[in-house]
Amino acid sequence: MANEANAQCDALVAAGLGSLVLFPSDSAYAAREASYWAANARLGPTCIVQPKTTADVSKVLLVLSIAPGNFAVRSGGHSQWAGGSDIHDGVTIDLGAMRNASYDATTQLVSVQPGLSWVDVYEEVEKYGRGVTGGRESTVGIAGFLTGGGNSYFTGRYGFGCDEVANFEVVLATGQVVNANKKTNPDLWKALKGGSGNFGIVTRFDLNTFPSTDVWGGMSIYNSSATEPLIKALVDFTSNNKNYPQDAHILIYQYDPTAGSDIIVATSIVDTYGVVNAPAFAEIQAVQPLVADLEVRTMSNLASAFVLPANQRNIWFTLTFKNDAAVVQKVVDLHEQLVADLKAALPASDFATRCLFQPLPAFFADRSVAQGGNVLGLDSQKDDMILWLGNGVVYSEANQPLMQSKMAAWSSAISSFAKAQGKDVGFVYLNYADGSQDPLSTYGSANIAFIRKVAAKYDPLAVFQRKVPGGFKISRI
Ligand SMILES: Cc1cc2nc3c(=O)[nH]c(=O)nc-3n(C[C@H](O)[C@H](O)[C@H](O)COP(=O)(O)OP(=O)(O)OC[C@H]3O[C@@H](n4cnc5c(N)ncnc54)[C@H](O)[C@@H]3O)c2cc1C
Repeated sequence: MANEANAQCDALVAAGLGSLVLFPSDSAYAAREASYWAANARLGPTCIVQPKTTADVSKVLLVLSIAPGNFAVRSGGHSQWAGGSDIHDGVTIDLGAMRNASYDATTQLVSVQPGLSWVDVYEEVEKYGRGVTGGRESTVGIAGFLTGGGNSYFTGRYGFGCDEVANFEVVLATGQVVNANKKTNPDLWKALKGGSGNFGIVTRFDLNTFPSTDVWGGMSIYNSSATEPLIKALVDFTSNNKNYPQDAHILIYQYDPTAGSDIIVATSIVDTYGVVNAPAFAEIQAVQPLVADLEVRTMSNLASAFVLPANQRNIWFTLTFKNDAAVVQKVVDLHEQLVADLKAALPASDFATRCLFQPLPAFFADRSVAQGGNVLGLDSQKDDMILWLGNGVVYSEANQPLMQSKMAAWSSAISSFAKAQGKDVGFVYLNYADGSQDPLSTYGSANIAFIRKVAAKYDPLAVFQRKVPGGFKISRI
């Protein structure tokens, strides 16, 4: 494997691409590895190749598709699990040098290269009074977000991030550059909306924009006695969200000794029209917070104000269940037990946990359908749902296996409880999933068959299945 990987790097150099290749002895190599959001996602590839243009990506793929050995594809590097977008024995194609964003006032599209983070896109479109359905944190990468779905503060108004991609420019394994939109290669366009890295490398996203205003919102922190009313408020907000599609809410539990002494409860609320104390939040705001940071601000400012810490060892699990207070309460109880168990096993300062609940009402999929459809399969869900994200953090490699098994057990216990209550939905959101989860298998049989067919059509030699082991692959379903 190591020999093959060395030969791959040599082949890139021999093809005249040496100026784009970084080796472990290069300081730029270390900087790129350090720029993966999660410390455990950095696998130390044999070399990194950094294309600057679509033509470079095409040349790189021509070499790596043929040379023996495996490779990885990385854009923002926010995939939190080891093997999401890096590789050890092999080459990482790092799109981080492709960082252009340009707004076209005639088409009202913003064309974005995959190396950008969402804050770069917000800053570009805000110059023209426009907005996009992007990530809620400034540093999140755009390519994984958009090809995995993309849950945004704007999802109620505009659907998932992927639904707002008017055109993908894609380099196929053969090096051929194609566009995928409603008229040209529409099957690839739809499959890329949730189907992740199964087809090719996206080198440009042309995104719909909308007239933007400042947004209002931010975070509030409560003591734990607020749990019951806040769970009720979450469930009610989720049921009513279709009447207030401009409003977004996340209920958060966190144990982080560096930020506070024990488990804290927090809410994130955002009105995307900038309405202060918007009526949809009345029930949430009736609960008295200890501290609140709610302001009218630009989206780029909001995205930069609340950012999860990078450079930690992260384990994420996600599940989706029906909008039900008993299930949410059970998850919260299990989180308390998890923290107690971890405190018994580890020094309290050696770990952190988070437990986030995001409304996923059924109407979110209406926009997806209206925009040409995606492959997430949420349009088949008739009930309002809650998207759960559990996040375990450890600071040393030695503690990672323990956290991995505790997080898997937590997720499994939630799943069993939701199933027993008839509240399980089965959907696993790819962008939050652990590598041991199987998000593509939860998209429904028609979408799975469709992704398989499109992958075989655009990558007939199955290069992205055979030689790109990272990410979630349709051939493993
Ligand atoms: C702090 C933080 C906040 C987040 N906030 C949100 C949020 O608000 N909403 C939400 O929905 N998600 C959110 N996420 C999850 C996020 O959407 C995923 O981590 C996503 O994969 C990030 O994209 P990336 O480009 O950084 O991914 P990478 O790690 O670079 O890649 C992810 C996957 O996409 C593939 N890929 C990368 N680039 C390309 C390309 N150009 N063409 C084809 N395939 C490619 C990779 O091979 C890999 O399998 C958040 C994550 C973090 C860590």
